[in-house]
Amino acid sequence: MNTFKLIGLTIITLLFGASSLYSYHRDLEVVRYVSATIKAIGWASSELEMELLKFDQSLTALAARTSDEANVQLRFELLWSRIDTLLAGEENRPVREQPGVLPMLKNFSSQLELWEERVYALRVDDRDEIMALRQELAHYRKLAREINVENFSGDKVWQQLDIIQDIRLRSSLYLGGLLLSGSLMLLLLLRENHRNRHMAYHDTLTGLPNRMFFYQLIDKALNRTQRERGALALHMVDLNSFKAINDSLGHEVGDNLLREIANRLSHTIGKQGRVARLGGDEFVIIQQLENIDDAELMAAQLFDALSRDVKLPDGCLSPQACIGTSLYPEHGLTAAELLSHADTAMYYAKHSRKTMVQMFEPGMDERRLRRQKLAVSLQAAIEQDQLELHYQPIFRLNSGDIESVEALLRWNSAEHGFISPLEVIAVAEQHGLAHRLNEWVLSQACRQMHRWHQAGCGWLKVNVNISPNIFMEGELALTVSAVLRDTGLDASTLVLEITEDTSMWDTAGSLDTLQELRELGIEIALDDFGTGYSSFSHLRQLPINKLKIDKSFVADLSTDPRAESLVKTIISLADNLNMTVTAEGIELVEQHVLLQQLGCGLGQGYLMARPMPAEAMSELLLQDKRYGSRSA
Ligand code: C2E
Ligand code: MG
Ligand code: MG
Repeated sequence: MNTFKLIGLTIITLLFGASSLYSYHRDLEVVRYVSATIKAIGWASSELEMELLKFDQSLTALAARTSDEANVQLRFELLWSRIDTLLAGEENRPVREQPGVLPMLKNFSSQLELWEERVYALRVDDRDEIMALRQELAHYRKLAREINVENFSGDKVWQQLDIIQDIRLRSSLYLGGLLLSGSLMLLLLLRENHRNRHMAYHDTLTGLPNRMFFYQLIDKALNRTQRERGALALHMVDLNSFKAINDSLGHEVGDNLLREIANRLSHTIGKQGRVARLGGDEFVIIQQLENIDDAELMAAQLFDALSRDVKLPDGCLSPQACIGTSLYPEHGLTAAELLSHADTAMYYAKHSRKTMVQMFEPGMDERRLRRQKLAVSLQAAIEQDQLELHYQPIFRLNSGDIESVEALLRWNSAEHGFISPLEVIAVAEQHGLAHRLNEWVLSQACRQMHRWHQAGCGWLKVNVNISPNIFMEGELALTVSAVLRDTGLDASTLVLEITEDTSMWDTAGSLDTLQELRELGIEIALDDFGTGYSSFSHLRQLPINKLKIDKSFVADLSTDPRAESLVKTIISLADNLNMTVTAEGIELVEQHVLLQQLGCGLGQGYLMARPMPAEAMSELLLQDKRYGSRSA
């Protein structure tokens, strides 16, 4: 309901209340008037009776010689004036209007006129005349008594008083009812209005303020902060792979997850600010800052709160989110600027692989713009086959034989120059090209591998990197089997590398995908192992054959004893789980030697060979002593 309607209805209800009160007031006045009149009439008629009695007594007293003629005349005059007042006085109209009263008064008045001479002529000795007058008077006393009893006292008055009481009660009930129903109506209207407003400004799923309300909240917060010369932070939160969870586990799980996220965010920000849901899996938090460092602290706390496992009926989910933060007034003065910058920072976090929590930095906008341009070029590059795959051999560390090759994407754009594969993947994921790019890489690598198999390297395997988004989409097994069919490659020679965080969603959905791939005969390697968040116990549940130790651990091997013991632990763990370990990024002989000593089976690195084009790789394979044999 809009404000205009509400004001209108409130005015109507108030008018209604006011008119009810007014009529109640009028009713009471009437009741008061009527009861006052009844009393006045009663009083007037008793007075008349009283005057009659007093006149009669004065006559008796005259006859008994206890009073004199003057007293009789006085009582007579008083009686007459009482009759005149009753006949003429406006205030006595109700008395005259009573049935039988007026004729009686008129009759009595003419009688008084007739008596006047006799009364003034009365003397103490006129006993007979006195008695005669008293007898005539008795008739009027009786009449007055009867009228008085009939109209102004006894049952009739009680009945009238009952009616008045009844009217009073009825109008009280009437007013009470009206006021009660009026206030009830107003209350319902206000409640309805409140509910409508709530629904218009809140997200029904999580109960958080929605986008529309968020703009009001941020405007208010900005005005206040500006007045107080303070600072505030805007944190933009986006869940990783939410679409995949929704698609693979169903909307109910997705909804529960969003509710849980909303609770955690609200709980974490507490009184320091407000949370809103902008839509989908996008949340935004406004934080009032007392100290500028609080922003980064809060972003980290929000991230931690979101990273805790969420319990599901059959298992649990480890959500991961990216958070981008912008600051007022440092990064922008308006809501739009702050939002856009927080969004940029969030995108940066999402695709940087380095961090999940990112503060906006000047220059990020340009990077985003560049990515938009890159996306356009990338789409053309995929369509026009301008991308390339380089291959880096993976060696058996003890024999030096090539076990497999890893296909690595290369894009040397005519317009933008060389773009690192990580950036290419990020651009593709941001702009909906990941699926096509992935398919291109897969089929290109499988086709090339098939050629090498044909050429006499039947033992060779190919490792293809799969971007997390594709893995989460859940259709990977279908795509892979179609590519294998098209290229004629044997499934057992394909290894899919998934990054560690991809498997974080240890949900039925991702486990199913892994299982389906394994059933096709494909091997799965967990890439960049050690940098993500997989727990060792988590590893046990995943149908994975290979672990690739991240190159950062290999780089630290000869200098940091902790890296050595970690690598040792990973190798023995993999042994226990029947997994093969590959060390990435071997650049130094010492690293090679140490890894060999530690029992690491496979290795890859610039020391042995850099990634190279397919032709160079073919030449390298030609030198292999197994060249021409079908298996190793
Ligand atoms: P990755 O899968 O871990 O690949 C290994 C990376 O380490 C490659 O970087 C490789 O060139 C590099 N590398 C190999 N040996 C050494 C060494 O001795 N020292 C050092 N410093 N680096 C070494 P590259 O080719 O730049 O690829 C980077 C990442 O991009 C890959 O990491 C992978 O995650 C991703 N990537 C590459 N190609 C693809 C692709 O076709 N699809 C997907 N989804 N991701 C890809
Ligand atoms: Mg890899
Ligand atoms: Mg790696």
